[in-house]
Amino acid sequence: MASLNCVHCGNALTKIVTDLLSDWGGAPLFVCFNPDCEYYENSWSVMARQGSPFGYRYYYSEETDNDGAFLVASPESYLDCIVAEEDYVTMERKEENQDTEYDNLCQAIKHAEQVAKGHCDEACAADHRQLARWLRQLKTIKFPHRAGTKKP
Ligand SMILES: [Zn+2]
Repeated sequence: MASLNCVHCGNALTKIVTDLLSDWGGAPLFVCFNPDCEYYENSWSVMARQGSPFGYRYYYSEETDNDGAFLVASPESYLDCIVAEEDYVTMERKEENQDTEYDNLCQAIKHAEQVAKGHCDEACAADHRQLARWLRQLKTIKFPHRAGTKKP
């Protein structure tokens, strides 16, 4: 594995998480944000000669083991994508928690519907039908992107 320092200036690379909708598809990258990095400083004139308004910074991808030029539109580009390692772990854990929460909600709906169908009197069945409806509404509100997708 390549070292996590800029091969041009030696500065430690900073981890960013790219936008899901960008060409990088949400991949985490290590980028040199040293404003005095020669590679970065020269990038503006190199790109200008090619008629491009962009500059670039040195990047390294742990996932693909690629490195090279990471296009930036301005010195501030991608600064908002910098994440501390702990934040990144928290983000992943949050997603796992959401999966669990979603599964639990689906289970609760299923259970309420089963109770409503069977073994109880009419008042109890009505209660559980109502409960199932509320839980479904909750599911739609909390997980709008998963509405309509069926999970076993
Ligand atoms: Zn550098």
